Amino acid sequence: MQKGTIGVTTDNIFPVIKKFLYSDHEIFLRELVSNAVDATQKLKTLSSFGDFKGELGAMNVSVSIDKKVGTLTISDHGVGMTAEEIEKYINQIAFSGAEEFLEKYKNDANAIIGHFGLGFYSSFMVSKKVEIRTLSYKEGAQAVMWSCDGSPAYEMSDIEKAERGTDIILYIDDENKEFLEEARIETLLKKYCRFLPVPIVFGKEQEWKDGKYVDTDKDKVINDMEPAWTRKPTDLKDEDYKKFYEDLYPGIDEPLFWIHLNIDYPFKLTGILYFPKIKNNIDINRYKIQLYCNQVFVTDSVEGIVPDFLMLLQGVIDSPDIPLNVSRSYLQSDANVKKIAGYITKKVSERLQEIFNSDRKQFEEKWDDLKIFIEYGMLSDEKFYERAQKFVLLKDTEDKYYTLDEYKTLIEANQTDKDGQLVYLYATDKEAQYSYIEAATSKGYDVLLMNGQLDPHFIGLLEQKLEKSRFVRVDSDVIDKLIKKSEKEAQVTLDEQQRDMMTTVFKSQLPVIEKSDFLVMFEAMGETAQPIVITQNEFMRRMKDMAAVQSGMAFYGDLPDSYNLIVNTEHPLTKRVLADAEASCKEELAPVLDELKTVNENISRLQEAKKDKKDDEVPLTEKEALKNAEEKAKELRAKEADILKLYADKTPLVRQLVDLALLSNNMLKGEALSKFIKRSVEIL
Ligand code: ADP
Ligand code: MG
Repeated sequence: MQKGTIGVTTDNIFPVIKKFLYSDHEIFLRELVSNAVDATQKLKTLSSFGDFKGELGAMNVSVSIDKKVGTLTISDHGVGMTAEEIEKYINQIAFSGAEEFLEKYKNDANAIIGHFGLGFYSSFMVSKKVEIRTLSYKEGAQAVMWSCDGSPAYEMSDIEKAERGTDIILYIDDENKEFLEEARIETLLKKYCRFLPVPIVFGKEQEWKDGKYVDTDKDKVINDMEPAWTRKPTDLKDEDYKKFYEDLYPGIDEPLFWIHLNIDYPFKLTGILYFPKIKNNIDINRYKIQLYCNQVFVTDSVEGIVPDFLMLLQGVIDSPDIPLNVSRSYLQSDANVKKIAGYITKKVSERLQEIFNSDRKQFEEKWDDLKIFIEYGMLSDEKFYERAQKFVLLKDTEDKYYTLDEYKTLIEANQTDKDGQLVYLYATDKEAQYSYIEAATSKGYDVLLMNGQLDPHFIGLLEQKLEKSRFVRVDSDVIDKLIKKSEKEAQVTLDEQQRDMMTTVFKSQLPVIEKSDFLVMFEAMGETAQPIVITQNEFMRRMKDMAAVQSGMAFYGDLPDSYNLIVNTEHPLTKRVLADAEASCKEELAPVLDELKTVNENISRLQEAKKDKKDDEVPLTEKEALKNAEEKAKELRAKEADILKLYADKTPLVRQLVDLALLSNNMLKGEALSKFIKRSVEIL
């Protein structure tokens, strides 16, 4: 029996390991099974080179629990270790690695998040004692046992062991009894070891016999040794990719596309990435990309490795070159990792381009699902924008798809305004904005459908990138002003008095709509256009949209929606309202307006008089007079408004015109709507 101290200076590193890594104790199993797999693979390699001439025999790794003794054992038939090797690889290297690790992170418990290559010593996170029983493959080797109770002291002695390979026996400590539960271990093996290249045996297959499940004598292998990503793309059919996807994410919809990654230089990386069908209620946390290192599961938080915009993809990435035993912040600044992100971006865009080129129809069919990835990518990654601009699609309200170039060609002739700006018209809701879309299409314009979650941002991006182009929502102005074709505009022939009158008449009939402001405006739009159109200012609407998703813009969010109620002064019905109002209210209005005229003249005179004087030079009487006059004017205007409102109230035509405009904007609701219907019936 040999006794010694492990080559570390820290008195007792194990309490520290346990304390630091409390949340991720479970990874010890991944580490020990990986070591067993490594040892197995090493022997296979030696054998294939003729450096090991013996029988390989069964080469599986097995995990077993002995509840009575309180042990968990991981056994392999790999290379095994001699006493010298234990001294070197366990006593010296493994533990000095542990010390170095703790030295580095002792002040930064947060940096330790459980994804480190902790190696053999992670077994002490859950054990009060660890035993190694091992027989090297080398000819004439002596089997040895090593044991350590978590202090730097260890014991080593020769033992009898018939089979080549290593048993690691963990005496599970009291706080970690869960690792003696079969269900727990099985879950962990499925999580970390599911795709390991060597059979991992855990218990026996069961069969249904005499009314219960009983063990057969067949070993239960928990892993798939040849997962799809490790195979050659040419050997795989669509079904294989779909099957693998279903295996990874049981119960999920079929993926849209997949990309088989395979690179040797400048780093090794394989994997399969899937474009999922994104549903609104998708739980992204459940369906994340999984990162593997030589088929060992490492993590499914791939931030920093996979470009942000591809975080919505799913599947598997496997690379032995991603440094795992370092902290996250280091990972993100690692040059290799950056290259990997760049490479994945490139691959994804190449694949999309390929599908676009070879099967445009399929690409269009899947576009609605695909769009969010591509827009997100273009928004967040300059390089991806460059590549994707060739295949990104715009969809119009007739469900036709165009590339950016195709669309430009389509609208260039008809949708260029007088300043040479190309105007992209868009709608966000085909139903609600129907009348505006129709007004535009009947003018020969094309209207895009931009109803995606990212479209407001995407529009902003395209406006930056496309030269002399701007996006305008179809309902943001009257049709002639959406795309101004010539300097001279049709003139509105109303005078100021008439404008005031019409403003009051129409405004008095607007129902109160919460958080909405209306501005009455006048346009000469021609006899055939609608009599009244409601539009919403593009700028204000965009600001409010942004405020909804961006804090710090709450100011805009709190503003009411501002609408323009545009009166088409050339329409026979609005002309009729004007003439009728003038005629009906003339008598009643005349004295009010006369008086108002006098008062206003008075006000101008008084204002003129005090214009060049300082405040204290103005006589008190004059100040008083101005104040009184202003009050009088206000009173008279209120009187005027009352008269006009009274007129409008008893003129169903006015209310009807307002309601029709609201209706075509989807803004007529509740009581106002039912009144409208009643009134319509009465008119009929
Ligand atoms: P790493 O696996 O990164 O080398 P570990 O701490 O996990 O670090 O293991 C240290 C060393 O111990 C291994 O490199 C290997 O030489 C040896 N070792 C561990 N487990 C086994 C095993 N089951 N069979 C043979 N050698 C092993
Ligand atoms: Mg290891």
